[in-house]
Amino acid sequence: MLMFKDRVVIVTGAGGGIGRVYALEFAKRGAKVVVNDLGGSHTGQGASSKAADKVVDEIKAAGGVAVPNYDSVEDGEKIVQTALDNFGRIDILINNAGILRDVSFGKMSDNDWDLIYRVHAKGAYKLSRAAWNHMREKSFGRIIMTSSAAGLYGNFGQSNYGSMKMALVGLSNTLAQEGKTKNITCNTIAPIAASRLTESVMPPEILDQLKPDYIVPLVLYLCHEDTTESGSVFEVGAGWVSKVRLERSAGFYDKNLSAEKLKDNWGKVESFDNPSYPTSASESVSGILAAVNNKASET
Ligand code: NAD
Repeated sequence: MLMFKDRVVIVTGAGGGIGRVYALEFAKRGAKVVVNDLGGSHTGQGASSKAADKVVDEIKAAGGVAVPNYDSVEDGEKIVQTALDNFGRIDILINNAGILRDVSFGKMSDNDWDLIYRVHAKGAYKLSRAAWNHMREKSFGRIIMTSSAAGLYGNFGQSNYGSMKMALVGLSNTLAQEGKTKNITCNTIAPIAASRLTESVMPPEILDQLKPDYIVPLVLYLCHEDTTESGSVFEVGAGWVSKVRLERSAGFYDKNLSAEKLKDNWGKVESFDNPSYPTSASESVSGILAAVNNKASET
C-alpha cells in the first residue's frame, strides 16, 4: 500500500467532487490534510465554510488528521500558511479547485475571462509559489496541476477555461525542470469525472462510469515519495490512465523557403512518419538546428 505517513498535503477545492476523494484517501493513508474550499457555486459565486468543514468531519470520523481552510485559491499564500501553522511543513500540493464560466467566444465578457484566469491559472500559481521555497528547503515536493481535455484539445464554449487549463501545462513543464535538483516533481492531469461541473452535460449512465474515485490512484502514485515521474501530462477517468505528449513532425526544410514551396511541400510539414518528441525548449531548438544542418549538408 502506498503510504503518506505524516506527509502534509494541501488539496484545493476539496469540499466536493474529485478534491474530496483525494483528501479522504490521503488522510486514510496517514497524511495530514489541509482541506481547502471556498464553498461557492460552480460558476464562482458566493462562499461558505460548510463544504470544507464537512470533509474535515468525515476525515476525523474515520480517525484521520485534517484542518479546513476557506480561502480562495487566489489567496494561495494563506492556504499554505494554514499548512505551516498547523503541521509545520508542506509536502504535497494538489491544485484542484475549479469553476466554469462557459460561453461562446463572441459573447465572452472580460469578467468571464478574468474569473477563470484568477481561479485556475493564478490560483495554481499562488499556491505553488507560496509552497515552492518550503519544498526546496526540505528537498521534497510533489505538485499536481489539474488541466482538462478542453485545454489540451479545445472545446466549444470554453475558450477561457481551455486557455487557463493549458497555461497550467506550461507552468507544470517549467516547475518540473526547476524542481529537478530539489526532488520536487510536478505533473498535470486532465481528468474526466462525474461532478457538479459535468452533471448537466452528460447522461446519468455515462456519469455512473465516471466516479471521481477513479482519478485518485494516479494522483496518489504521482505524489508518492518513491515516484520520480515529472513534467508529464495524463488523461484519466473511468479506470483508464494514459500519458499524453507533444509530437513534432520531421518537417520540411529549404534554405530559400517561400510560401509557394511550402504549399508544394505541405505534406512533408504534416507527415508524422518520422516524428520527434522534444521534452524541453532546449531540446526543441537543438532538434531544429540538427535537422537544418543535416539537410544543408545533404544539398
Ligand atoms: P467540483 O465543482 O465538484 O469541485 C471543485 C471545487 O473547487 C468545489 O468544491 C468548489 O467549491 C471549489 N472552488 C471553486 N473555486 C474555488 C476557489 N476560488 N478557491 C477554493 N476553492 C474553490 O468540480 P470537479 O469536477 O471535482 O473539479 C475538480 C477540478 O477538475 C477542477 O479544476 C476542474 O476544472 C477539473 N476538471 C474536472 C473535470 C470533470 O470531468 N469533472 C474535467 C476536466 C477538468
